[in-house]
Amino acid sequence: MWNGKRPILFGGDYNPDQWDDATIDEDMKLFEQAGINLLVLPVFAWAKLEPEEGKYDFEWLDNILNKIWEHGIHVFLATPTSAQPSWLSKKYSDVLPVDIAGRRRTHGMRVFFCVNSINYRSRARAIAEALAERYRDFPGLAGWHVANEYGTYCYCENCRKKFITWLKARYGSIEELNSRWHTSFWGRQIYDFDDVTLPTELNDDYRFCPAVQLDYMRFVTDSTIECYLNEAQVLKAATPHLPVFTNISGFIKKLNQFEMTPHMDFVGWDNYPAPGDDAAFPAFKHEIMRAARDGAPFLVAEQSPNQQNWQPYNKIKRPGEIRRIAYQGLAHGADSSLFFQMRQSVAGQEKFHGAFIAHSGFQTRIFREGCALGQEFKKLGSSFTGGRIRARAAIVFDWENWWALELTSGPTQDMDYLKQVFRYYKAFYTENIPVDIIKTTTKLDNYDLVVMPLLYMMKPGFDEKIREFVKKGGTAAATYMSGRADENDRCVFGAYPGPLKDVFGVWVEETDALYPEETIEIIMTGKEGDCSERQHTGKFLCDLFHAQTAEVLAVYGKSFAGEKEQECFYTGMPALTVNKYGEGHAYYLGCEPDESFMRQWILKLCEETGVKRLFAFEGKLELTCRENENGQYVFVINHGNSKGRVWLNEEGESPVYYSLLQDKEVKGVFTISPGEVSVLFRGRD
Ligand SMILES: [Zn+2]
Repeated sequence: MWNGKRPILFGGDYNPDQWDDATIDEDMKLFEQAGINLLVLPVFAWAKLEPEEGKYDFEWLDNILNKIWEHGIHVFLATPTSAQPSWLSKKYSDVLPVDIAGRRRTHGMRVFFCVNSINYRSRARAIAEALAERYRDFPGLAGWHVANEYGTYCYCENCRKKFITWLKARYGSIEELNSRWHTSFWGRQIYDFDDVTLPTELNDDYRFCPAVQLDYMRFVTDSTIECYLNEAQVLKAATPHLPVFTNISGFIKKLNQFEMTPHMDFVGWDNYPAPGDDAAFPAFKHEIMRAARDGAPFLVAEQSPNQQNWQPYNKIKRPGEIRRIAYQGLAHGADSSLFFQMRQSVAGQEKFHGAFIAHSGFQTRIFREGCALGQEFKKLGSSFTGGRIRARAAIVFDWENWWALELTSGPTQDMDYLKQVFRYYKAFYTENIPVDIIKTTTKLDNYDLVVMPLLYMMKPGFDEKIREFVKKGGTAAATYMSGRADENDRCVFGAYPGPLKDVFGVWVEETDALYPEETIEIIMTGKEGDCSERQHTGKFLCDLFHAQTAEVLAVYGKSFAGEKEQECFYTGMPALTVNKYGEGHAYYLGCEPDESFMRQWILKLCEETGVKRLFAFEGKLELTCRENENGQYVFVINHGNSKGRVWLNEEGESPVYYSLLQDKEVKGVFTISPGEVSVLFRGRD
């Protein structure tokens, strides 16, 4: 293990079970040359490690691990349990999952097992025990990586029975279950727990009852946690001093990671931005992952050194792109830059997925860029690892709200919670105003401003938290589709936003869904709290709401279908309001505004609450600051095509920073070239 602090972890997935000795020897030299300090293996090697039930073959792995350690490279040893061997699928009929249409699936995919299968869990635990026993004292062992990208939904009879047990524990009685699921609608009364069916029926008109689906998603999350712990507990018991975690798929919706990750020693997630993605989008996902363990540093467990293979059009990474992606993760709180994969596979589903060592070898642009990155990381060492980000503004993101909003039939088919919350995040990001994504369980004491976009599901206690926050002087901002349902998706009677009506001083009477081509004007009334421009555009959904004690800051103007004006009976109704409540303020926004409104509104809220941008800047720059015991580390990434400038001066002083990558002191106005990155250090005074 590393003595003292871990450096930036650099390396990634290596699958040597595919390669001969000569190739592995060549890889070791290349890894050393590239400055790789960590490999993750053997993620998919269960079939090779246990060719028959209970008969293990570890010698080949011993040899590879020894070679790796001879080159001074650490490992996260992976339990290979995301791809079970064929004998396991064949011998035990409960291992393969049953899909939503009731079909038992065939063997041959990865992450393709029932997480509740007793036989799967028993054999997974056994191989985890065998690995722990054999490698617990291996000197290069830096941690344990359990399985890979959990996320299979199974609908087998065993899962149904366990779901019933889960429901009994959660709700106690059949009466409570019927009440929670509101089964009197459509006469779906459940007389006996054994009558519970899984949400498998697909229908063109309606999805299965959303309350049942919601609970099934919670249950699958809990089952997956059990499945993870089944192995993790064995590993932790063998090596209590080493971290244990699993990597989270970049497509993160189906398992509630806010529930899963507290069971891990850190969050590790797989970052695969699509070509052409707004640079703010991966930044937003990093923030969600940082939120999962309340701001603790996390790992980027995978990213691609070059193109992916599974997107519709797999663009190769442009020169310098991977460096910006790697630093963006570090800038937002990651302590690693790990990649899938080190050597490109010869065949199989991912043969065209990028790698450090590609089919074309190592005399390549990508390998050279990887080596350059490795040299920089060596230089940075463990300087900023462990560093945290401080923010006075927060955006609430709730996983179960994500599920519930998108399970709901109506008011629009275009509901996309992630995209919606992203629009609010982007307003902060573009202005380089530090903002935390927070959970509904996060304490609000450290914040001056809390934005809660589309918080449809109001969990017990959260309304009180917001009430107290505003009463004590905080500023809260809520939007359309807020405060509508409880945690079982039962809507509130007495108008939205339910228990927070008095805090926001409004009540919502109806919500109109706009066609994609429809827009509505948002006209500022010109009072305090105004945006600087008078007229803006809204779309998506329009809450028709009434200001009771709130002041109206904007109203709906004319309505348009494309360019053509159309009749609109709610022209003149409030679109944005503010309510004074206790010592604080509560804003309510009725429709999805355009980007310029969003930017001006968020800037206004920040100005009112004293929330500041990190530095004044010019250009398409991304700025963040991580702090640890050494001091502050300011990350500057230039995503633009022209020079950017950062004003490092503070009121009345001109602090000196040290540019760690360029090895020079900087103060005053810092200039950064297009596409470049910098890390500026300022020690504790
Ligand atoms: Zn199952």
